[in-house]
Amino acid sequence: MLQAKFCPDCQTEMQSGVIPDLAHGVTATTKWLPGTPPFDTTFWGNLKDRDGRLHHSTSLPVITWRCPDCGLLRSYAHES
Ligand SMILES: [Zn+2]
Repeated sequence: MLQAKFCPDCQTEMQSGVIPDLAHGVTATTKWLPGTPPFDTTFWGNLKDRDGRLHHSTSLPVITWRCPDCGLLRSYAHES
């Protein structure tokens, strides 16, 4: 169960949602991956960090909240 979030500027209750990842012809939830900047891509277009790759096994789904008054977006990547 998600807890209500309130806009830090307007104090209005924010709406939950996602920013979809539209790569490869599917609509997936954007994921948070731990990594060390700077980020670059491999020859095949995969994202990698300074150590050479991102750690997909520890990815977390990203939930983004939107303020209906000012449009502010805030994203959270929780463990559960
Ligand atoms: Zn707002």
